[in-house]
Amino acid sequence: MKKYDYLLLRFGEVTLKGRNRARFEKAAVEHVRALMRPYPDAKIRREFGRIYVDPGSENVETLIPILQNVFGMTSLSPVRAVQPELDEIIRAAGELIEAMNLDRETTFKTNVRRVWKDFPHPSQESNPLVATPLLKRFSLLKVDVRNPELELRVEIRDKAAYVYGEVIPGVGGFPLGTNGKALLLLSGGIDSPVAGWSALRRGLELECIHFHSYPFTSEKAKEKVIDLAQALAEYAGKVRLHIVPFTEVQTSFTQMGQDNLMITLMRRAMLRIATKVAEREKALALVTGESLGQVASQTLPSMNVIERATELPILRPLVMTDKDEIIRLSRKIGTYETSILPYEDCCTLFVPKSPTTNPNLRIVNKIEAVTPNLERLIEEAAAGTETIELLAGGSRLRREQADAEAAIKQDWF
Ligand code: ATP
Ligand code: MG
Repeated sequence: MKKYDYLLLRFGEVTLKGRNRARFEKAAVEHVRALMRPYPDAKIRREFGRIYVDPGSENVETLIPILQNVFGMTSLSPVRAVQPELDEIIRAAGELIEAMNLDRETTFKTNVRRVWKDFPHPSQESNPLVATPLLKRFSLLKVDVRNPELELRVEIRDKAAYVYGEVIPGVGGFPLGTNGKALLLLSGGIDSPVAGWSALRRGLELECIHFHSYPFTSEKAKEKVIDLAQALAEYAGKVRLHIVPFTEVQTSFTQMGQDNLMITLMRRAMLRIATKVAEREKALALVTGESLGQVASQTLPSMNVIERATELPILRPLVMTDKDEIIRLSRKIGTYETSILPYEDCCTLFVPKSPTTNPNLRIVNKIEAVTPNLERLIEEAAAGTETIELLAGGSRLRREQADAEAAIKQDWF
């Protein structure tokens, strides 16, 4: 017998109130649908500002860690659904408590709500009817109606009574995409994937852009970034990744004899190209993994000069976050192991011995004005962008495809 029948997803008061409610609910349902794409059997139902997921042939336990990632969701509960009859409710509640394997005294109350008025006992009267037999059966349960550790909830409706006790925290934030679209500058490092996840959690729809300097940076480095974008797609359901051929822009700066300004010039060129792609894709902001003071290009004077290359707002979710904390988040969202793979990034490759921490805007402007064909190279890089779309569950699909291709090659040789 299945222990649970549904997962119940709850959303914050803030997100689901007021004029935005319908839009937020719709976005949350869409997000659940996207995350459940690899589980076509699961059914999704929206009711009274909540979402119920029927796992179909899937195990509720399998779906919990996936659905915990629904942005804007405050908590979820595995739920039993039984006939709306007192005996059935008591039996289901007993099974749930049994499954908790209580090993110490636990404070407890029931919270029964009769929505279906034909149920013979009103809400208040139902509470002791459900609680008394449970207290008799489980000697470790002690009543505390003010601040119980376990609140056993029962919702009695005409078709079924829902019984649940466990409340698992969700990630919070805003439903996916309800705060508009932004373009994430995704490198192969630790920070930018974390920045991307934070942006998604805050209700932004994301597209990613990566600057690739083939042959100075390898195919492996590109694969790594695709894997990181895929990891974000597992959270977002879907992510588009724009890969920019950056070699010509980058080498045009190396001829300028301004080594200590290399990074400043490269970052500004990246922002210019990203701005063009953002405009094309109707993204309203850029997102980076920058953190104040972390490296020479992230001092306040550097950020100040670099960000003048764009008129779009730059969102830096990690700007005030310590590296330790970023690493912790990176492990939590599962990007750390990929991020620390050694393949070089286009920037590390051209890093001068002493990059400036205090670039001069006037000088930077002058160099850019005399860099041969800069404007055209930036145009061409933006136009030559390759775009791939990554879907949740896709890492599996991509691996299968790679395996299939490898098998075909073996047949040939
Ligand atoms: P990360 O760990 O995200 O690479 P970092 O600490 O290594 O960050 P930098 O390499 O200086 O810092 O990059 C700062 C930000 O610039 C990155 O977080 C990212 O948003 C962007 N960026 C850097 N290199 C690239 C690239 N090749 N393609 C796209 N964005 C990049
Ligand atoms: Mg980096």
